[in-house]
Amino acid sequence: MERILNYIGGTLTPPSSGQWLDDHAPATGRVFAQVPDSDASDVAEAVKAALAARPAWWSLGVQGRSRAMLRVADRIERDLERFAKAESLDNGKPVALAREVDIPRAVANLRFFATAILHQHTEAHLTDEVAINYTARTPVGVAGCISPWNLPLYLFTWKIAPALASGCTVVAKPSEITPYTAFLLAQVCIEEGFPPGVLNIVHGLGPRVGAAITQHPDIPAISFTGGTRTGAEIARTAAPMFKKLSLELGGKNPVLVFADCDREEMLTTTVRSSFRNQGEICLCGSRILVERSYYAEFRDAFVDRVKALRVGDPSDPGTDLGALVSEAHMEKVLAYVKLAREEGGRVLCGGERVTLKGDLAQGWYVAPTVIEGLGAHCRTNQEEIFGPVVTIQPFDSEEEALASANSTPYGLAAVVWTNDLKRAHRVADGLHSGIVWVNCWMERDLRTPFGGVKQSGVGREGGWEALKFFTEAKNVCVKR
Ligand code: NDP
Repeated sequence: MERILNYIGGTLTPPSSGQWLDDHAPATGRVFAQVPDSDASDVAEAVKAALAARPAWWSLGVQGRSRAMLRVADRIERDLERFAKAESLDNGKPVALAREVDIPRAVANLRFFATAILHQHTEAHLTDEVAINYTARTPVGVAGCISPWNLPLYLFTWKIAPALASGCTVVAKPSEITPYTAFLLAQVCIEEGFPPGVLNIVHGLGPRVGAAITQHPDIPAISFTGGTRTGAEIARTAAPMFKKLSLELGGKNPVLVFADCDREEMLTTTVRSSFRNQGEICLCGSRILVERSYYAEFRDAFVDRVKALRVGDPSDPGTDLGALVSEAHMEKVLAYVKLAREEGGRVLCGGERVTLKGDLAQGWYVAPTVIEGLGAHCRTNQEEIFGPVVTIQPFDSEEEALASANSTPYGLAAVVWTNDLKRAHRVADGLHSGIVWVNCWMERDLRTPFGGVKQSGVGREGGWEALKFFTEAKNVCVKR
């Protein structure tokens, strides 16, 4: 069986403990590889390598760092099919989705930050006749990057690319549930001559490897994407050590549908924003709020389309939803459907595990599920489910829609559907959310700041914000 290896100091290495974890293929439920069960000693080795590589990486300058990163990006693009298949095998998502979205976006992350540094500038202020102030930014040192399982390579590169571009060296941990594409990336780095020790990847469990990264005194900045509870734990450790922290956490995103919207476009996009990647995208809309005059018509049209979605073999190009990432996650999602029923919700479609034939019979598939009849404050509408489950609710006024939309502890993303321009601006303004999409979903411009408010996170990533995060700013005041 294939063994995934750590990537430390430019070399692929087994864990120092000699212990391994199983890596499952969600489509079949079978183990297909083993993952290092690393510990704090592997993290310590990785930090040593990252510290040693710092001066050479920094002295390459922006041109040199940019070229090294672009070589890696180009190679992933050439190997797109291999990466897409690996991502689908590891995560359970349709291979077509990995091919069209995940891997191209991972390439785009590397390219964006590799080229952004070529155009970076710094601020200077002339203070009357007295002085010139300028801001000097230097890399913060070794960056710790911890990423989740839902968009494995995309979010992994989203963390490491700005850190590397800024001149930091990196110790990174992908989710142990989906480590495979990060392992392929390590192989690509070696083959493309990426400088050893600049990027180090340590595989293993969050409470062991993730915690060791968070606690390490020589890692002054942590960039984390994952669940809100894990984010809180990381913050508890990192805050008293005065580390820089960027936390991209969970969401419970509302979709506000006004009767005047372009209904066909809204329906097509809302099916996607609900069930893409089996609903396992932090930006998926999971609470659909619909103006009452259009509610019944919306419900019937939406449920018809959801029933037509195909749950199936992730390698089949006709599949809309593949498998959920793990058995434990599938059980969690199904437990929320049970809870929704107990809270008085009516399941309009889905709501159960799907058993496929042959090899796929033990895979972790759940039918796309639509639930109505629940109020804004029940647990189903307050807690993150992170699967193919959405609720629909009518509203009578803009104020009521906003109150419902803002009623959760989360504030990651929201979608507004309306053709009334003034209302679009007004509602966008009233939503307490890091991102608002109007008449679209998941459109991303990497130059914009990205991240949530409330319990969806702190710190902004994306664009210059991310490059700044991985640096220390120093003001130099020179007398004129
Ligand atoms: P987790 O919080 O469980 O895990 C995220 C990462 O943190 C994993 O690599 C995990 O390792 C690691 N980890 C776990 N415990 C610790 C710890 N004590 N210290 C340090 N690291 C730790 O999230 P999931 O992987 O389950 O991802 C799903 C969550 O991510 C959802 O809540 C989703 O909303 C959120 N998310 C947010 C996004 C955003 O941009 N705001 C984007 C995508 C997802 P291991 O896998 O071994 O447990």
